[in-house]
Amino acid sequence: MIKKIVISILLIFFISSNLSPVSATTISDSDTINTLIDDKNFEEAYKILIDSLNESDNDQKLKSLRMILEIDNLLGDTDQMLLHGLDLVDSSIQNNDSYNEMIGYYYLGSVYYTLYEDTKAFEYFEKMLVIASSKGYELGKGFYHTFSGLISYSYEEYDLALDSFIIAKSHLEKAPLDYDWIFGDFLEDNEIMLSITESLVHDTTEVQIQTIESIGSSYMEANWNLKLNALWESSFVLNKLGAYEKSVPLLEEAYEHLQSTNFGDLYTNLKEYLKYDLAYAYYNTGEYQKSSELVLEDAYDFDMKEEVNRSELINEKLRALENRSMEAESNRQMRIIGIVSAIAILLILLILIIIKEYFKVKALTKEVYEKSIKDGLTGLYNRMALVDRYESEISSRTALAIVDIDDFKEINDTFGHLIGDEVIRKVAQVIDHTMTGVGYAGRYGGEEFLVVIQNTEKTNPWDIAEALRLNVESISWSFKSDPITVSIGLLCHSKSNFDEGFKTVDDLLYAAKESGKNMTLSTDCKI
Ligand code: GH3
Ligand code: MG
Ligand code: MG
Repeated sequence: MIKKIVISILLIFFISSNLSPVSATTISDSDTINTLIDDKNFEEAYKILIDSLNESDNDQKLKSLRMILEIDNLLGDTDQMLLHGLDLVDSSIQNNDSYNEMIGYYYLGSVYYTLYEDTKAFEYFEKMLVIASSKGYELGKGFYHTFSGLISYSYEEYDLALDSFIIAKSHLEKAPLDYDWIFGDFLEDNEIMLSITESLVHDTTEVQIQTIESIGSSYMEANWNLKLNALWESSFVLNKLGAYEKSVPLLEEAYEHLQSTNFGDLYTNLKEYLKYDLAYAYYNTGEYQKSSELVLEDAYDFDMKEEVNRSELINEKLRALENRSMEAESNRQMRIIGIVSAIAILLILLILIIIKEYFKVKALTKEVYEKSIKDGLTGLYNRMALVDRYESEISSRTALAIVDIDDFKEINDTFGHLIGDEVIRKVAQVIDHTMTGVGYAGRYGGEEFLVVIQNTEKTNPWDIAEALRLNVESISWSFKSDPITVSIGLLCHSKSNFDEGFKTVDDLLYAAKESGKNMTLSTDCKI
């Protein structure tokens, strides 16, 4: 922000330092204008100039427009500046006056520059440069490079800025001094910027501070505007370099200097900016009292009592605000804690649900698995599971047997299927019990069971089969007194697959049935 203020100061300086030398031949009633300007009665001068726009003399009109533009500038009225700048360009084109057309572009560019619209500003500055280059107007070239420099400077591109200021200087020096009454100080202003930038580019910070301080002081005896500009711009840079102690006296001098001139309301903005800079510098040097006094100076009619009341009111409001914000903060924290806790609880619940579901699914899977491998009636392996297991463990040290209940049809027929089921269940239980630790059994189907005996190098399969047969035989039944028996076909040394082995035991079983039942038959066992 402040950087752009610098240029608006520059613009204002152009007029303020040069209004007096308005030559008697510039406009018809220039004497009146001069007097008004000497009396700082810009409003009245402005009115006369606006009226003079209706004069038929085109040349006169252009000159009036330029003076109006300067007063617009002084009033900080950018809208009017744009309007009159466009008027100036328009009238100049009609009048075939390329010099004033160029000046028109200069104003338009400057306005956009102060409005921070650098791209648009440069569109106009470029138009200005085109005319300046084709017509050889050194002033236009000088302006162009000065603004290039100022823009680079505002972006802290000091190397580029310095190049531009140097080029600008060479053009401004070639521009005839009396070329235009408005821009008399432009060369000197460029010189100030050049010296400051040169120091920023080439010196160490310490030397920069010294050099810039001395640039500020060296313009003490210069004309009113240059002095203000030099003091202000130098102090601005010193502030930026953190040399607040050094910037304070320059700013004080600048402020006093500005106060000493009574430009009336027209300089209010300028004063406000400068005052703010000074207050800021005071603040940075720890002179808070001075800083606040300065800031408050114009803010109210300095009625101490009212001031105290006001500051009490402000303090009260601040305290209320603080309380409110503390309350809001603690509410916010409570809300955050609430939200976090709710999320945590939800997460825990979710995890519990997931764990529960996991175990449920696991149990279900287990159940499904068990069901898929077990026989529903007996709880033994079903045929498929037993065959799977047997084939995965098959070796010469496993024995396979088939067990078939003798005359089971008769039990069914005599006592009914429920009793038949009960018999199958009980026999299965006894088989399972007998096989514990020595192997496993499964229901092949109906009243037939498959039995696998493991580790046959340690346990004799024949003995196991016989034990099994005898165990079944010794079961006592409630519905009949004589025992229920089984026949067994046994293969002590397993074949390479189930089907081959099964055929053998099935044949042996058939033989056992044929031989009178209730017996174990084998062809390869040690008895
Ligand atoms: P053998 O001494 O020659 O083995 O004669 P058996 O009567 O035991 O043999 P058979 O194959 O003639 O009869 C078996 C019967 O078992 C036939 C069938 O109805 C019955 N059965 C098969 N599965 C079941 C079952 O799950 N429950 C009941 N209660 N009976 C069944
Ligand atoms: Mg059978
Ligand atoms: Mg049978």
